[in-house]
Amino acid sequence: MLSEIADEIRACRKCSLWKTRNSAVPGSGNMNAAVMLIGEAPGRNEDMQGKPFVGRAGEILNSLLASAGLSREEIFITNVVKCRPPQNRNPLPGEIKACSPYLDRQIDAIRPKVIGTLGNFATTYVMQKFGLEPRPIGQVHGQAFAVNTLVHHLVVVPLYHPAAAIYDPTKMPILEKDFMLLKPKRL
Ligand code: SF4
Repeated sequence: MLSEIADEIRACRKCSLWKTRNSAVPGSGNMNAAVMLIGEAPGRNEDMQGKPFVGRAGEILNSLLASAGLSREEIFITNVVKCRPPQNRNPLPGEIKACSPYLDRQIDAIRPKVIGTLGNFATTYVMQKFGLEPRPIGQVHGQAFAVNTLVHHLVVVPLYHPAAAIYDPTKMPILEKDFMLLKPKRL
């Protein structure tokens, strides 16, 4: 299922971002993951390699996961938008609308117990999707929101994007504390 979705994403031309991408970035990780992390969109390194979170933000993410007792191999990580917006600009509403059905299908296939949303765009999308009131990441980071639908029983944990710690090192201890909510023993 996940590999079929990934193949569709790599061939996708549903929004104009396909024209400027080097590689689409479907996501990677464990198809049976209890924890799913969702970011905003691929950056330059991700676009070159076709893999999520492989640049400096990826190194910070790996460190945060390790401090929470998790590894990249046991989670699944992807983005709301699967192709890099030029100059890393914010994804446009039409791009999110065109691309988010892929994310919805990935969530349905994996059925995670916890979704960690990295930054404002992922947090807004996921909270709206599950009928939660979206609020700025500064107000909701490090909290756990229970979701119980006919299909999904999970917790949404909004988190600052790891890239925030590159530009503002004071975010690192906040990220470390918030990532502890993803710990398997708390699931
Ligand atoms: S961003 Fe999403 S919808 Fe747009 S071309 Fe890439 S995969 Fe398709």
